[in-house]
Amino acid sequence: MEKILNYINGEFKASISNEWMSVYEPATGKVYGELANSNEADVLEAIEASENAKTSWAKLPQHKRSAYLFAMADEIEKSLKELALAETKDNGKPISLATSVDIPRAAANFRFYAGAALHQQSEAHDMGELAFNYTIRKPLGTVVCISPWNLPLYLFTWKIAPALATGNCVIAKPSEVTPYTAYLLSKIAAKVGLPKGVLNVIHGEGPRVGNTLSTHPKIKAVSFTGGTKTGSTIAGLAAPLFKKLSLELGGKNPNIIFADAPYDEMLATTVRSSFSNQGQICLCGSRILVEASIYDKFKADFIKKVKALKLGNPYDDATNVGAVVSKSHQQKILDCIALAKKEGGKILLGGNAAILDNDFKDGYYVEPTIIEGLDQDCRTNQEEIFGPVVTIAPFETEEEAITMANSTNYGLAASIWTSNQRKAHRVAKEVDAGIIWINTWLLRDLRTPFGGIKNSGVGREGGHYALNFFTEPKNICFTY
Ligand code: NAD
Repeated sequence: MEKILNYINGEFKASISNEWMSVYEPATGKVYGELANSNEADVLEAIEASENAKTSWAKLPQHKRSAYLFAMADEIEKSLKELALAETKDNGKPISLATSVDIPRAAANFRFYAGAALHQQSEAHDMGELAFNYTIRKPLGTVVCISPWNLPLYLFTWKIAPALATGNCVIAKPSEVTPYTAYLLSKIAAKVGLPKGVLNVIHGEGPRVGNTLSTHPKIKAVSFTGGTKTGSTIAGLAAPLFKKLSLELGGKNPNIIFADAPYDEMLATTVRSSFSNQGQICLCGSRILVEASIYDKFKADFIKKVKALKLGNPYDDATNVGAVVSKSHQQKILDCIALAKKEGGKILLGGNAAILDNDFKDGYYVEPTIIEGLDQDCRTNQEEIFGPVVTIAPFETEEEAITMANSTNYGLAASIWTSNQRKAHRVAKEVDAGIIWINTWLLRDLRTPFGGIKNSGVGREGGHYALNFFTEPKNICFTY
């Protein structure tokens, strides 16, 4: 049985209380490992380690800090197969996705921020004969990075890399549901010789450590990605203490399809944006809004394409739809489908748990599900399901599409499909979301701002946004 240990002050260890929790393989429903279940005592130890390391890490010349991060990127790339397999075991996602997206992106995060920090600039403001200002950016000290289970290593590294690159020491908390690749990352940190205490990884249930992570006076910032409710709890604790907060939360993203969309590309991408990672990507388009004149055609073609997806053993290279992350999440998704039916929704495809054979018979599978006939204001269209479930609905006019798109309390991402560039940009301006894709989906340039509005979050990650988040500007003004 795999033992997943904390990584504190450069050492791998059980939690101080020696409590453990089981880790499940969603593909089979079997326990495959034991996870250190930490509490406040472990966090305090990590804070001490980080505080001891922070001055020398912050003073290290940038090119030396970056060299550690480049080395971590190299090691992630070298371990691609092992890490992808670990991600599939832990999360249930298709191995093809873990191999082509999750792990390469984790390496890219380290490589990008190792380079970006080398090129970070600060400002100067000349007041002529009177005075001169220059602004320096200093690391914050000890910062906390908390990540969710859907893209485990990808989102874990997305936070850790800029925090380390800018000279902070990190206490990182991966999801207890998918801790495996975070553990392997701590082994990589040890392998490349990252100085002890610079990166500390604390495992276990969030609420057991959440209070200390959000309120301890030595913690200067919390970067959190996860559910809106958890984000609100963290903000409630940390904001009154004036800690810097970055919150990347839930979504209920619209996918707006106009009649003049580039049809084949739209259809193929909409299948992906609906069901990639079993719909468990915060950027998935779960509300598909289709111009009425092509609604019936789209509906028929979409159902046909989704039917052709191969649901099954996620270790099989040909699988498109794997397991959802846990038994409780499977049940939550099935409950949402039951609610949709109660609300008057018509199930066009799917709607049930999928039962596989042999070793996989106890795994957590849900059929890709398409629902129609629901207004935008019902719970199914307002609340995040975070599973392989989409609704489709027709609209008549551009104005109606925008109203429908903006009808939720979320505002993370949106896709717009049309060949009319003027219309595309007009609609993009009006849709309430932090990230808009026109005729594409999930295309990311790491320099661009990433984050949502409304209940989808506060702040932005990516590019210089993260470099700025993890540093404090100090303006120095002098006269001649
Ligand atoms: P979650 O909020 O349950 O957990 C996220 C992390 O927070 C985990 O590491 C968990 O252990 C920790 N946690 C739980 N309670 C805590 C507390 N009281 N204090 C501190 N930490 C605590 O979210 P999840 O179920 O793991 O992830 C799914 C959610 O994440 C979805 O809502 C999804 O939309 C969201 N998400 C958002 C983005 C984005 O960029 N906006 C990206 C991916 C996922």
